[in-house]
Amino acid sequence: MTYQSINPYNDKILQSFDELTDLKLEHAIETATTCFETWRHMSFAHRAAIVSRAAVIMRERTEEFAQPMTLEMGKLIGQAREEVLLSAHILDYYARNAEAFLAPHDLMPSSGEATVVSAPYGVLFGVQPWNFPYYQLARFAAPNLMAGNVVMVKHASCVPQCAVAFEKLWLEAGAPIGAYTNLFISHDQVNRVIDDPRIKGIALTGSVEAGKSIAARAGQNLKKTTMELGGNDAFIVLDDADLEKTVEWAVWAKMNNSGQCCVAAKRFIVVEKLADRFLEKFKAALMELKPGDPMDTATTLGPLSTESALLKLLNQVEEAVARGAGIVLGGNRIDRAGSFMQPTILDNIKSDNPAYREEFFGPVALFFRVKDEDEAVALANDSDFGLGGSVFTQDIEWGKFVANRIDTGMVFINHPTWTACDLPFGGIKNSGYGRELSSLGIQEFVNKKLIRIDSIDALA
Ligand code: NAP
Repeated sequence: MTYQSINPYNDKILQSFDELTDLKLEHAIETATTCFETWRHMSFAHRAAIVSRAAVIMRERTEEFAQPMTLEMGKLIGQAREEVLLSAHILDYYARNAEAFLAPHDLMPSSGEATVVSAPYGVLFGVQPWNFPYYQLARFAAPNLMAGNVVMVKHASCVPQCAVAFEKLWLEAGAPIGAYTNLFISHDQVNRVIDDPRIKGIALTGSVEAGKSIAARAGQNLKKTTMELGGNDAFIVLDDADLEKTVEWAVWAKMNNSGQCCVAAKRFIVVEKLADRFLEKFKAALMELKPGDPMDTATTLGPLSTESALLKLLNQVEEAVARGAGIVLGGNRIDRAGSFMQPTILDNIKSDNPAYREEFFGPVALFFRVKDEDEAVALANDSDFGLGGSVFTQDIEWGKFVANRIDTGMVFINHPTWTACDLPFGGIKNSGYGRELSSLGIQEFVNKKLIRIDSIDALA
């Protein structure tokens, strides 16, 4: 059984789901293809009414959506509720703005007239991760449904209850069958969906390994993809930073979602002048976190999403230490039931240590002490990833200057990298390509079609 809901707080199996047979998969693709032919011709207003109704349902039933997240992947219940509201916000944002984002754009050719219009691609396929079980689906589904595409989604195998809840949401909101389809399918079937000529574009959010496999397969089929992959974000502290507030944000940047965010701060790069004081305060704050039931609002440290995620992280820490890293804090699993990891800080990570280049997906912070801004920027850029990053300084102009020197898709000043419906999200290098959210996200899977009018007597 591949699609299984297991509570990482107590290892209980909650629910199991069968994979689709090939016949049912074929039926689902055919239904989506047929649906596209009506959905594409609906007015923006009609589609917006459905998408905004879905937002209303999410808001009205926040608890019903939030609880499966906490049960299936251990997200603290308060953060789960926030994610439901963020997802609703994304739906509303595209319901309100899609028509303007995709409005025909008149050009000014030297003769005659020319307009660029945006036409939907068709049936899109999304492969999505478990770490934000609704937000990831919302940021793929909302812009694309509003653009007139229909979407099929293979969600991560450990969050099937969320996958089902999000599919039901669309039917309840009044979307026709086939507009949004959840697919419980194997990796082999993922490949077959990518190969299917009825599928016109593919969006993946996940690991670099999954990205290479899915992008290669799509490439063989000459299909457009967007890739939202891993990160190794730098959290740079310059010597005039407000230390108290910076440490507060450092804890949030590392520990939000138990450190399982693509844009979690992963490398803390602090200039010499503040390094000792930063480390002391950061360590003290992490030691305050209280492990417990993620359903309990008093808990501040939840379990990791699965036992295998914990074992992978423990392995990485062990390997890092074997290759010379020091343990400033933690380093082990917590001695209790469930997949709990101690908040951990590693230092003394040299460039030949695998930890120097790897993504640690959990509550493990890598700490680096540097001489100055130049050394901080060089270290931040010495990464195979290029997703987000942040710079802490009281001098905003200096912050902007440093931000411009960092090779990533997003840099935040005096704030950890985070997301909002109206801000573009995405990276460069091994963090992938393409953007989601904002006015950019809706442009990825539309045909920018030129319509040209010229006099029949004009020269060619
Ligand atoms: P993952 O193992 O790559 O899984 C992501 C999705 O891809 C899941 O649905 C998974 O299905 C599927 N998948 C994996 N390998 C596949 C293959 N060879 N063929 C077909 N499907 C495949 O990633 P994860 O561990 O769930 O998520 C964590 C990673 O995602 C981290 O690297 C994180 O940084 C990244 N992430 C990036 C962003 C962003 O916006 N840049 C956002 C969130 C997360 P199964 O579950 O069935 O294996």
